[in-house]
Amino acid sequence: VYGASEGLRTVLVERSATGGQAGQSSRIENYLGFPDGVSGAQLTDRARRQAVKFGAEMLTAREVTGLEATARPRTRAFADGGAIAAHA
Ligand SMILES: Cc1cc2nc3c(=O)[nH]c(=O)nc-3n(C[C@H](O)[C@H](O)[C@H](O)COP(=O)(O)OP(=O)(O)OC[C@H]3O[C@@H](n4cnc5c(N)ncnc54)[C@H](O)[C@@H]3O)c2cc1C
Repeated sequence: VYGASEGLRTVLVERSATGGQAGQSSRIENYLGFPDGVSGAQLTDRARRQAVKFGAEMLTAREVTGLEATARPRTRAFADGGAIAAHA
């Protein structure tokens, strides 16, 4: 959300579904701005939609298998043989 909203070309790589551990939580009571609590699925769906709204690109079902961080641009390798280059 912050990267994309600042105008950076931003990509989120996820090997399964977006949401991570938080998406599996039935109820999150300690997240700032949700005094009545929120389900993990609701919170992460809102976060995903917010990031997409600012132009972040989602690459789901893509597993990162390698990271080359010494050269510029930095490169991530995917399990399917593809790769992506990024500044950060
Ligand atoms: C049941 C449960 C309840 C919780 N409840 C709370 C709570 O109430 N309050 C609280 O503050 N915290 C809670 N937590 C903890 C909180 O969810 C985590 O601290 C937080 O989600 C960590 O976020 P993260 O983005 O660092 O990592 P993660 O949420 O683990 O996200 C990492 C993501 O990267 C993906 N990934 C990993 N390796 C690769 C790879 N090689 N290629 C592509 N993708 C990859 C994973 O699939 C995952 O989606 C809970 C956790 C669980 C499991």
